[in-house]
Amino acid sequence: MPSKTHVAVIGAGAFGGWTALYLLRRNVRVTLVDAWGPGNSRSSSGGETRIMRGTYGPNQPYTKMAAHALRLWKEHEAQWGVQVLHRTGVLWMATSADDQFERSSLPMLRDAGVAYEELSGKGVSKRWPQINVEDVRWAIYEPEGGFLSARLACQIVFDQFMKAGGEYKQAAVLPHDLEDGVRQGLTLSDGSKLTADRYVFACGPWLGKLFPETIGRLVRPTKQDVFFFGTPAGDDRFAEHKLPVWADHRDRFIYGIPATDGRGFKVADDTRGAEFDPTSGERVVSEDGLKAIRDYVAFRFPAMKDARLIETRVCQYENTPDNHLIIDRHGTAENVWLVGGGSGHGFKHGPAVGEMVAELAMERKEVNPTFQLARFRKADLLGQDSGC
Ligand SMILES: Cc1cc2nc3c(=O)[nH]c(=O)nc-3n(C[C@H](O)[C@H](O)[C@H](O)COP(=O)(O)OP(=O)(O)OC[C@H]3O[C@@H](n4cnc5c(N)ncnc54)[C@H](O)[C@@H]3O)c2cc1C
Repeated sequence: MPSKTHVAVIGAGAFGGWTALYLLRRNVRVTLVDAWGPGNSRSSSGGETRIMRGTYGPNQPYTKMAAHALRLWKEHEAQWGVQVLHRTGVLWMATSADDQFERSSLPMLRDAGVAYEELSGKGVSKRWPQINVEDVRWAIYEPEGGFLSARLACQIVFDQFMKAGGEYKQAAVLPHDLEDGVRQGLTLSDGSKLTADRYVFACGPWLGKLFPETIGRLVRPTKQDVFFFGTPAGDDRFAEHKLPVWADHRDRFIYGIPATDGRGFKVADDTRGAEFDPTSGERVVSEDGLKAIRDYVAFRFPAMKDARLIETRVCQYENTPDNHLIIDRHGTAENVWLVGGGSGHGFKHGPAVGEMVAELAMERKEVNPTFQLARFRKADLLGQDSGC
């Protein structure tokens, strides 16, 4: 009997975890390696919640990918018997005079078969009177969207991987000579060597440091502050059964997730923060950021005006210059795949990315040009989209 192909997947976040699971289903031997474990607090997937939505603006592959991923999340949720998708709906409020992003999202949603409603400002207020709609021109409501339990999902995917016969090593892959040395195998932090037939590096914000020549500054980690405000005692208007996930597309893009699991009302500004080191960065939010978010919350949700801050998180986006994902072979090592660049919106696509990467790694298929590394030579470096 010929021995099974052995694939090493480095990184057990949203992209690596799902890739490892999908690879196992192809009757492949898979070793998953992570420095700190699935959904750890340094990783970009390490937070309690992530938004699931299809509204993405014009000319992009993500509305269709999100629709496919939503089906996969639902299927897996049913298989696992655990809820990871909270169908609160997603309300995307168009508040600036330029609503091109929202207008051009509509045909993309239609084409992908994503359910949506167009609401007027008044319509929003009627349904959710806790929102001040003063400047809301109109809104897109996706009733099937909502939020995913992020850390929990990473851990469940990992458990399923182990149950299905996957192998795991908690160790860091040392960054030495990966650009041309993968053929000799990987050196791990415990001093051991790991050799496989193929390698998938799904190392989120660390990808540039591991591959300084191929990725380098193409994946730039930025500090993102996240705030959780306490809701008034006994008041459930800001909890998940009364309020959808919401996004406010104004001069800056602000979004929030209703209170869940007894935690607070989550609010964050999607504007890219300062550069951040995912290993050594101290995860403390900025005072200025807190003040700006407080002012915003008081305006948009008047009943939350004096809400106390009850928790904070600092995460990092792993941004590419155009905010598109990177899914491609290494330029000189045919058996090495590089996967990442979630750019603040990758989590929802986890199962779709895992399915795609497993197929690419095992079959001779063309990579979608949007995700190829070659695009950066001719790239429009101005970027296009917002996160979440
Ligand atoms: C604040 C915030 C809000 C977001 N909101 C949304 C949202 O609402 N919706 C959405 O879809 N997306 C959102 N995102 C983006 C999304 O979370 C990320 O794009 C996605 O989780 C990235 O997953 P990943 O697997 O590429 O990276 P990661 O989750 O960072 O995983 C990489 C893994 O690699 C491991 N690793 C790294 N280097 C090594 C090494 N040398 N050896 C071994 N292991 C290593 C790490 O420990 C880590 O576990 C948000 C991100 C942030 C930070």
